[in-house]
Amino acid sequence: MPALQTLVIGAGISGMTCAHRLADAGQAVTVVDKGRRPSGRLATRTSRSGPVFDHGAQFFTARLDGFRARVQDWIARGVAAEWDARIVDLEDASATPTWRRATRYVGTPSMDALVADLCRPTTGIDGPHFGIQVSHLAPAATGHEARTEDDTAAAGRAFDRVVVAIAGAQAQTLVQTTHPAFARRLATAQTAACWAGMLAFDHRLNLDFDAAFIENTSPLSWIARNTAKPGRPAAPACWVLHAAPAWSQEHVELTTDQALSRLTEAFAATTGLTLPPPTYAAAHRWRFAHVTKPLDAPYLHDPAQGLALCGDVFCTGPRPNIEQAWRSGHELAGAILSTG
Ligand SMILES: Cc1cc2nc3c(=O)[nH]c(=O)nc-3n(C[C@H](O)[C@H](O)[C@H](O)COP(=O)(O)OP(=O)(O)OC[C@H]3O[C@@H](n4cnc5c(N)ncnc54)[C@H](O)[C@@H]3O)c2cc1C
Repeated sequence: MPALQTLVIGAGISGMTCAHRLADAGQAVTVVDKGRRPSGRLATRTSRSGPVFDHGAQFFTARLDGFRARVQDWIARGVAAEWDARIVDLEDASATPTWRRATRYVGTPSMDALVADLCRPTTGIDGPHFGIQVSHLAPAATGHEARTEDDTAAAGRAFDRVVVAIAGAQAQTLVQTTHPAFARRLATAQTAACWAGMLAFDHRLNLDFDAAFIENTSPLSWIARNTAKPGRPAAPACWVLHAAPAWSQEHVELTTDQALSRLTEAFAATTGLTLPPPTYAAAHRWRFAHVTKPLDAPYLHDPAQGLALCGDVFCTGPRPNIEQAWRSGHELAGAILSTG
């Protein structure tokens, strides 16, 4: 019997993890992604003038056994490293920071290295093919066709099975017509945006920590000296600023210039610094950044319809994050393999 053909939509950590486990078991998998290169929300911006910013996910934890093994392999191959950072809880510029202790990891030399590693050419995986945005799913003689805006079939053909591995809110839209029951489940989840600011300075700022969680009324919830992470260039001093989910959602329609100016003001106010002029400054809006209300399910899978979903909206742990996205993709592949 010929192997079933699976299409994975989304080459983030969940989709690529699912694709690898299926391919390792001998299944034929094709992956498409709308982005220009591997990263998903584990993104890194590199400017020609030198600064490097992880402007999406900042770090990750490894609590699950299977994910710990994944991370140990990455560490052994130089794709990840422990980030022994001085991270504080900062209430305002005058408060005494409390040092946080936890084992945190980062991709090296940048966060996008993790997904790039999973996107290396692999036997059994066709792709990932970048620059392909699936706009709707349509039934085909066998299985589904994933069609793009100009109504051509993604990867040029139909598939027996489709795995949707994209942010929950986007997945809800995509499966609305094909699988209303899945769309209704996804509608119970909630997502928030995140405005990210990126600032580079010629000289190190006078701050005695590498990163801070900000727990006051500031627009910001997190600031980090990207330069402090292992494997990053020592100069210039690059700072990533993340606005809090509620603030980002409320201000989601700001222009990037407006957002940059608000985040920069908040950075100065929170740290109590008079900032020197930055040598690089930019802002990025993540429209579907954080899952604020996840689904209490490991994934969704309808073997009869050949449709499945994974990603960080499916959370069985303390909070939706990289580790949960990995788990969801890994467990979904296990479920698919067990149903044949
Ligand atoms: C600003 C920010 C900060 C974060 N901080 C942390 C952190 O510090 N630690 C942590 O653990 N997690 C953090 N996260 C969350 C973490 O990044 C996600 O949980 C994780 O990356 C989700 O992986 P995923 O594979 O489910 O989705 P994604 O990484 O979003 O991957 C989905 C992929 O699908 C593609 N795609 C979407 N729609 C389509 C379509 N229609 N057709 C084709 N392709 C499509 C996208 O291009 C993307 O590559 C952060 C996220 C953001 C945005």
